[in-house]
Amino acid sequence: MIKNDYSRKVTACRVCGHRKFHSYLDLGLIPLVNRYVEPDDNRVEPRFPLRIQKCNQCHLSMLDLVVDPGVLYANYAYQSSISRTFQEHCGRLAEQAVKLYPNRSLTVWEIASNDGCMALEFQRRGAKVVGIEPAANLAALARSRGVNSVAEFWSEKVAQKLSLNHPAPDLIVATNVFAHVDNLLDFLAGVRAVLPDHGRLIVEVPYLVSFIQKTEFDTAYHEHLSYFLLYPIREVARRAGLELIDVDLLQIHGGSIRVHIGKGKPGSMVQKLLLEEERLGFYDDKIYDEFSKHVQQIREELVSFVTALKQRGRTISAFGASAKGNVLLNYCHLSAETFEYVVDDTLSKQGKFYPGLRLPIVSRDALIGSPTDYLVILAWNFYDEIKKSLAGYISGGGRLVCPLPTLRID
Ligand SMILES: [Zn+2]
Repeated sequence: MIKNDYSRKVTACRVCGHRKFHSYLDLGLIPLVNRYVEPDDNRVEPRFPLRIQKCNQCHLSMLDLVVDPGVLYANYAYQSSISRTFQEHCGRLAEQAVKLYPNRSLTVWEIASNDGCMALEFQRRGAKVVGIEPAANLAALARSRGVNSVAEFWSEKVAQKLSLNHPAPDLIVATNVFAHVDNLLDFLAGVRAVLPDHGRLIVEVPYLVSFIQKTEFDTAYHEHLSYFLLYPIREVARRAGLELIDVDLLQIHGGSIRVHIGKGKPGSMVQKLLLEEERLGFYDDKIYDEFSKHVQQIREELVSFVTALKQRGRTISAFGASAKGNVLLNYCHLSAETFEYVVDDTLSKQGKFYPGLRLPIVSRDALIGSPTDYLVILAWNFYDEIKKSLAGYISGGGRLVCPLPTLRID
């Protein structure tokens, strides 16, 4: 049994140390959304408050508590290669990144290399890759696919240890890990310690501007400690002796930024985006408070929609037993009373329960054997890809529901 005291309150900003915050989003008590539950496991699942606050000085948005990583990342289930969209994204990143160094035999270190999805794309383009992945099961999986992977949590100490027996990286790649890092200064100190002057750290992180504008509150969960504007990234990079060289806006994960960090001069795109953030009002509180109200409206809309369906005797299931879908359902207090099951393609999730909901996770066979009238697409960021794959369900009369960014019935 996990006690709920496995967390600590955030009292100082992890970027600038400031202690005054504007608290703006409260999603209630949410379970650990990547902790898939065995059907015979009847223990009470731990839940922790999920609230976001903004630093009044550097504008970093962050959870107001940090759950112990040992609890959070035990049996981590997210596997990159499952999504074709993500795989293609990795290919494009690798393609562009190798062009930065046309006449070089490239060495890439990848932090949080997961199952090797990105690393393989670099290897296909001739780079030597070292994967650094804290989840031992994923590091082993990546090794079985031919990626040199070590099972470690990235830190300055680990960076220095790795530099003793690996060639220095021209590129360090860290996609979808920055938001998970509690000690950002130590993370970047590790980068600074091993990165040569010509080298770059490429970070990809969900962008707070998209998070707010597209109302992506379902991407808030306990693993995501920080929600970034460019401003606090520049602040933390500078504090670590690094500079932002370039930035790109990306569509992946509902809207992300790719930031190039290194020892060179700041790029003009960086200044441009900082001005845009200010112009849009992201350095003031008002936009955050409006967002919070909008989130509550979305909950009311979705709950009344599914309640009306149930009253008319319709059956409903969900698609994509992802973390984000779990936040949405738990925030809306929707569970096994509303849904028959949740479909997911990940074999390791099938046969288990969706955290906090006692909702069985099943394969696509359920959509043929016992289809429901409606199917709510929880992984709505991959909506088009999922819709194409559900042609059989749709032609059989099934209706799709896209819950976000605005409720839509197909
Ligand atoms: Zn701050």
